[in-house]
Amino acid sequence: TITVDDLKSLLNLIAEAMTREKSRLCELDGVIGDADHGIAMELGFSAAAKAAAVLDSATSDPTLVFNTAAKAFLNAVGASSGPLYATALMRAGASAKGKEFLTDDDLVDVFIALAKGIQDRGKAEIGEKTMVDAWAPAAAACGAARENRMPLATCLSEALAAAEAGTEATKDMIATKGRSSRLGERALGHIDPGAASATIVVSCFQTFFS
Ligand code: ADP
Ligand code: MG
Ligand code: MG
Repeated sequence: TITVDDLKSLLNLIAEAMTREKSRLCELDGVIGDADHGIAMELGFSAAAKAAAVLDSATSDPTLVFNTAAKAFLNAVGASSGPLYATALMRAGASAKGKEFLTDDDLVDVFIALAKGIQDRGKAEIGEKTMVDAWAPAAAACGAARENRMPLATCLSEALAAAEAGTEATKDMIATKGRSSRLGERALGHIDPGAASATIVVSCFQTFFS
């Protein structure tokens, strides 16, 4: 089973990964955006992990962990990734409602809820050169693997492969949402930074639950 402590550790793992990848994400955003995406993701997940870590250690409420992380992310980040990930984390919280710990199946629900939160909040569809191009196929692959009765580790490996492929595919897209939509065809040939960071989040899930 997956405990509140596991969720706190997962948030830490993501925050550490964003610190490691900060400059790469800022470079990607520098090409088609305003070069702050690595900073935003590091700030957001560090704040989220820290806020979750200082919750009463007696707490066994996954919803509280996700909701606390969501608020901290939103307060820490001024960029458009702020409300996107805050909504994702709130949806994860809602999906865990009423549970003291999560089963592997619940974790798949949480993962799918994160992706749906991003899509509902930003209203982007696949093909618009955003983080949805990583999150939506990752969630679909995860759900499909579960339908095929695959174990959680396999569901998340499939999700990671889909996120990576989706991120690579953003190279050939023109952005129609977000800052880079101003660039038109000049965005061609470049990976979307939000899709790249989404893939980092997915890879942390995959690593943590493998
Ligand atoms: P900002 O553009 O405000 O500086 P960030 O640099 O943190 O914000 O994030 C940029 C990323 O946000 C983009 O690479 C893209 O993936 C994502 N993004 C922008 N708009 C949307 C949207 N409407 N839906 C989903 N993702 C979006
Ligand atoms: Mg930016
Ligand atoms: Mg910005």
